[in-house]
Formats: sequence, C-alpha cells, structure tokens
Amino acid sequence: MIGVFGGTFDPIHYAHLRSALEVQEIFGLTEVRFIPSATPPHRHQPAVNAECRRHMVDLAIQHQAGFICDARELDRHGKSYMVDTLASLRQDFPDQPLLLFIGTDAFNQLTTWHQWQRLFAFAHVVVMTRPSFNSQSLDDFFITRHTENPAELANTLAGKLYFQAITQLDISATAIRQLIAQHRSPRFLLPDEVLDYITQKQLYQIN
Ligand code: ATP
Repeated sequence: MIGVFGGTFDPIHYAHLRSALEVQEIFGLTEVRFIPSATPPHRHQPAVNAECRRHMVDLAIQHQAGFICDARELDRHGKSYMVDTLASLRQDFPDQPLLLFIGTDAFNQLTTWHQWQRLFAFAHVVVMTRPSFNSQSLDDFFITRHTENPAELANTLAGKLYFQAITQLDISATAIRQLIAQHRSPRFLLPDEVLDYITQKQLYQIN
C-alpha cells in the first residue's frame, strides 16, 4: 500500500512528519509520498516558490526510510488537482492500494475539491482524526464508502473512506511563518535542517 500526502508544505513541519510516520506504521505502508502542490486551487498562494518548498520536504524526510518526495505536481502545467495526481499515481502503480491521507480540516472541505467524487476511483481516503472524532453526520456518498475494517483498504485498490485517530500536534505552517516574520524562533516545530535552510535563504521574513 502506498500513502499519499499532499500539501503546500510551506514549510513542512513536525505535525506533517509525525502523522506520516504514524500511518506508515499503522498501515504498513511500503511508501509514503509527499507531494508538494504547485498552484493550490483552494487556498492562498504559497509564500515561497515550489522549488524551495520541494527542497524543504527533501531535507525533512531524508533520514526516514520509505518517505519519498514526489514532485509530479510541480512538473505539471496549470492548477494542481489531487484527482489528476491520483490518476497519474494509479497509472504508475496499477496493482497497489493507494491511501490518500488528509486532516479533518481538509476533509471538511473535500466536497469543494475538483471532481472530488472521482478521488475514490483512484484511492482510498483516510482521514486523520482526533481520538474524539465523531463520524456520525456523514452524508450518503460517504456512508456507502465508510469502513471500520482496515483490512478492506488492503484488499481493494480504491474507493473506501476510513477514519484513523493519530496524535494531534497543534502546529501549523501559518504559525511558523508568522513566528519567523516576527523574528521569533520556530525551532522544535520543524526539523533543524529545514530551519537552517529557511534561515540561509531568508524565507518568510515578510508576513
Ligand atoms: P497552512 O498553515 O499554511 O495552511 P498546514 O500546516 O495546514 O499549512 P498544509 O501543507 O496545508 O499544512 O497541509 C497538508 C496536509 O497536512 C493537509 O492534509 C492537512 O490537513 C495536514 N495537516 C496540516 N497540519 C496538521 C496538523 N497539525 N496535524 C495533522 N495534520 C495536519
């Protein structure tokens, strides 16, 4: 099974890395692919360019076996839609279950994503939740796909919705950017290698 983590990673931080490590272990993933987005359709534009964000992902994951930086969205022209990314991953990995990991904030916005229903044609969607998360108010589309049996994710290639509780770290890239712009240190919220690169390149100095 292959895990997919999309994001702006502006910059990548310990909440991204910790949740990826937990799901790598829980689901026995052969790979976790971090996919920095080029032109995110749903949110403000990234503060730093795609090449710097990709490089920070590389620095952050270099020592973790199975973590891969996948730059396919940066190599594509136009907007980065997750459905296109998953379609291209499905071509590369025709026989492997794909697990798209998203936070609850992203899940709450999922129905605004481009062709969001087609995501399930290519991958399972795994929502990383707080232990107290309550999935009772799902609409019909999600109820028919919802499973509480993780074996179903391994036994089919795509199409299921699963909720996985993980350790919650209250870290956001927005808060890190604000600290830097205020000349305060974001140390211990992200890897030292990433912070050294931010300092060297003088990234996020202006809010
Ligand atoms: P920003 O503050 O700029 O919005 P972010 O820290 O939320 O950025 P993104 O790159 O937008 O990071 O997030 C990529 C993915 O990581 C999304 O699926 C998001 O839900 C998830 N994520 C972000 N922060 C956390 C966190 N603290 N804990 C768990 N998942 C997170």
